[in-house]
Amino acid sequence: MIKLQNITKSYRNGFKRAFVLRRVSLEINEGEFVTIMGPSGAGKSTLLHIMGLLDEPSDGDYLFRGESTASMSNKQRTELHRTQIGFVFQAYHLIDDLTVYENLETPLLYKGLGRSERKSKVAEMLDRFSLVAKQKLFPNQLSGGQQQLVGVARALIIEPRVILADEPTGNLQSQQGEDIMQTLRDLNENDGVTIVQVTHSEKQARYGDRIVRLVDGAVDEDLRLNAETAAA
Ligand code: ADP
Ligand code: ADP
Repeated sequence: MIKLQNITKSYRNGFKRAFVLRRVSLEINEGEFVTIMGPSGAGKSTLLHIMGLLDEPSDGDYLFRGESTASMSNKQRTELHRTQIGFVFQAYHLIDDLTVYENLETPLLYKGLGRSERKSKVAEMLDRFSLVAKQKLFPNQLSGGQQQLVGVARALIIEPRVILADEPTGNLQSQQGEDIMQTLRDLNENDGVTIVQVTHSEKQARYGDRIVRLVDGAVDEDLRLNAETAAA
């Protein structure tokens, strides 16, 4: 599903180059639920953004479903992102001048769904995430946790084959956070959706079945959890 081959990401820093990712190779199969952990600044968000086709590597190749993304046009990459990848941003990334309803509808417009189908899918998501009463509000009228729920709902609404989530429960109260994790777990188990999440929480990591630890931009550990250590 996701195959990273010697991915390097660097930025120019004055006369020097700062390396954020150093020759990261990683293969994630369809149906896996992978957690990326590691210290702050290790490159976790950058790696997730590359997987989500929101950022490009400086070197190496990224194969999505066996296809090299390096040889795709920007248009093709955007299309892939919009139709197959549900991305939950750390800082929500909602569109400020659109209501909750319109924020949820946007990915469906990009996907080209008709009016009635959009309406029913948005209604279903509003209901599922208890956001019905908030649908006419704008993001800045919501708490951080509520914005996060909208961000998760927006990622799921296209029924993506891959969900990439950057600290999806970071701003939620613990019960809400567990509900989100259970939702991801169910999508993974029942529908075979591939999930990659970034988190600092060991507890949250146990919802998945594999932990990849990133240190200084390189894979430091790649651990498969067995059924006994995995929670839920
Ligand atoms: P993590 O998610 O593990 O905290 P990040 O991927 O956010 O790590 O960042 C890793 C490093 O890359 C940080 O040191 C950060 O400052 C640097 N970095 C990220 N984006 C840029 C950028 N656009 N320009 C320069 N440095 C960046
Ligand atoms: P652009 O102007 O770059 O084409 P868009 O209007 O497509 O940006 O999207 C605005 C932001 O929302 C972008 O960062 C994009 O990655 C993100 N986005 C678009 N579609 C989705 C989606 N289905 N799930 C999550 N984020 C999305």
